[in-house]
Amino acid sequence: MPDALASRIASSIRDVPDFPHPGILFRDITPVIGDAALFRDVIREMSAPFQEQGIEVVAGIEARGFILGGAIAAALGAGFVPIRKPGRLPRARVRVDYALEYGSDALEAHVDAVSPGARVLLVDDVLATGGTAAAAIELLQRFGATIAGAAFLIELAFLRGRGRVAPADPLVLLRYD
Ligand code: AMP
Repeated sequence: MPDALASRIASSIRDVPDFPHPGILFRDITPVIGDAALFRDVIREMSAPFQEQGIEVVAGIEARGFILGGAIAAALGAGFVPIRKPGRLPRARVRVDYALEYGSDALEAHVDAVSPGARVLLVDDVLATGGTAAAAIELLQRFGATIAGAAFLIELAFLRGRGRVAPADPLVLLRYD
């Protein structure tokens, strides 16, 4: 991980205590994507390792994964597939339910979003417990996709989500230990 870029990202991120729930330290990335040079460098760094990997589709998780994933898809010459929260997609969907600390949630994609065997790169802003990314991978595997990689701007390493995104060894630009 290039340390100069990691420290630029770290000093741009705004920490918001107790959002959206008490006890959560929310890492707000909007200043990162609002800074033209930093956004460009982040997208370049998140795309570079995958340039020769034959990525056909970038799948981004709602909502900040759309911003990063869309730009990465354009940089790679790949298509983009939105992985959405329930009830947002207008046509027939594939759905995966997953457990949260309190309750459950689900992710959906259109039934024709990914072709069998497609090489997919999964993108989101934060890898925390890994539950969201694991559910997204399960969803993509329902299509018969090949998970060619996973990329996150931030990893909250103390939550040990990394092991849940197997088989991908995720690319991360900034890690909080
Ligand atoms: P998890 O399923 O625990 O890995 O959580 C990952 C999802 O929740 C990602 O889509 C993140 O955008 C969001 N998320 C989790 N923790 C944080 C945090 N501390 N700050 C910002 N977003 C977070």
